[in-house]
Amino acid sequence: MQKPKLNKLSPEIINQIAAGEVIERPASIVKELVDNSIDAQSTKIEIKVKNGGIDLIEVSDNGIGIPKENISSAFDSHTTSKIEKIEDLNTLLSLGFRGEALSTITSVSRVKLVSKFQSEDLGNEINYNENGKSLVKSAAKEQGTTVNVENIFYNIPARFKYLKTAQTEYRKIYELLLNYFLIFPNIHFILYKDGKIVVDTSLVPNSKAGEISEERVTKFLGSHNFLKLFSDGAGIKINGYIAHPSTHKSKSSNSYIFLNNRPITDRGIMRAIYEGYSRYLPYGEKILLI
Ligand code: ADP
Ligand code: MG
Repeated sequence: MQKPKLNKLSPEIINQIAAGEVIERPASIVKELVDNSIDAQSTKIEIKVKNGGIDLIEVSDNGIGIPKENISSAFDSHTTSKIEKIEDLNTLLSLGFRGEALSTITSVSRVKLVSKFQSEDLGNEINYNENGKSLVKSAAKEQGTTVNVENIFYNIPARFKYLKTAQTEYRKIYELLLNYFLIFPNIHFILYKDGKIVVDTSLVPNSKAGEISEERVTKFLGSHNFLKLFSDGAGIKINGYIAHPSTHKSKSSNSYIFLNNRPITDRGIMRAIYEGYSRYLPYGEKILLI
């Protein structure tokens, strides 16, 4: 029998394999970029997608930006400004911390990043494509960071093949972003689809992250005679909206649950809510819940 040969994988291939776990489709890239913008304390985030994000995803923010000296290393794997030691995980408030998003995105697409750090005078730009990474050069930028991602999986045909239609990929992006629109009323979001503005949600004055606002809920989910939920005690704060029992439906449950500003699905929590609400609802009927 022929002896198996052991291959030591190149850093590029290792990165592409790692990318498979973080980046499955355009919506995964949108998630990572928007998370980064939120972690950078942005109050305005613009998202542009073309052809369901397959051709282009661009996320621009007005956050703190990236200092010139960090622009290049921000793309190295396991490089993050958000944690330093393992204990930091106990107090972590940011959405990202593994330092893998930017590095994996560059291994599956062409990327241009322009950023201006708030206390520097000039912006800087860096590019990643099939020729590797460019040098950092100065670029005009007033504030914040813009990441432009083109041609997802252009270099991995086996993964490109599994992308769905542009329409489906766009729907996945929209469904993802809807969570952010609901849970971050303190951020002005603009979404462009193939060059046209499809969402423009000015920020809700004096709102905070995690404070679900009726304004956003009604704008995105319609008017359902909402009742406000609020509870604060035993170290747990709950806020949100639940549709009035009279608006029940037998179909989809249409519920959005967030924990520490991240969307979650949890059957236990859902069951507890429905049990609490059950005497007001016909058996098995569902209700809109945020
Ligand atoms: P993580 O978010 O896990 O730290 P990323 O690869 O997503 O890792 O980003 C690496 C680093 O690049 C971040 O820790 C942050 O310092 C910087 N960064 C990325 N995107 C932005 C942004 N939009 N604004 C400011 N800094 C950013
Ligand atoms: Mg990140």
